Amino acid sequence: MTVTVTPVAPATAPVKAVVLAAPEAVTPYPKPYNNETYKPTHPGRFRVVFDQSAGAGESFSSKLVAERDYAPGETLALLDNKSAAPVKAYSSVQYGAGPNDHLELNSDLLFMNHSCAPTVEMVLPSRQPERWEVRVGPAGVKKGGDLTFFYPSTEWDMAQGFTCSCGAKTHTSQNCLGEINGAKYLTLEQLEERGLVNDHIRALKAGQ
Ligand SMILES: [Zn+2]
Repeated sequence: MTVTVTPVAPATAPVKAVVLAAPEAVTPYPKPYNNETYKPTHPGRFRVVFDQSAGAGESFSSKLVAERDYAPGETLALLDNKSAAPVKAYSSVQYGAGPNDHLELNSDLLFMNHSCAPTVEMVLPSRQPERWEVRVGPAGVKKGGDLTFFYPSTEWDMAQGFTCSCGAKTHTSQNCLGEINGAKYLTLEQLEERGLVNDHIRALKAGQ
């Protein structure tokens, strides 16, 4: 008789922590405010359209638009200039369940607005930062189209909540949710109706 012993991974396999580049180790991204100083980080792929009505100051009406057509599921951009975020901020993106698991994009992707019916997805598979990317959603995106993602797909409890005015219609399953404060305040169904739910958000939701 032959006894086959199946090797079993130790029950407490060490979990490799994600270590992101320090802010000073990536290409600096001085946030542009208008066309005069703006140099696209991904020319030919997407660009920032500034809301000039706000003058020279900060505006939340600026947006990111596609510079060509994208097929469903196509990679819009890898997060290849990301860095560890010193603090959770309006500009940071959450990639894990820990209190310090936030990154800065350091590119024009910063200008992706939130939508309750988003056109792209922020894809952050657990502990695989080399694969983190923005992926085009199931409807694809046409040249000139807005590039938006559903903030609660990455954010659990946002630094700054806001009242959404995306205008997504109430007759679809992706109607506008109004107050956006993070996944903590939504049901799993509301999250799943709007596309990808990242691993860390699922884990936090399961433990809620
Ligand atoms: Zn909305």
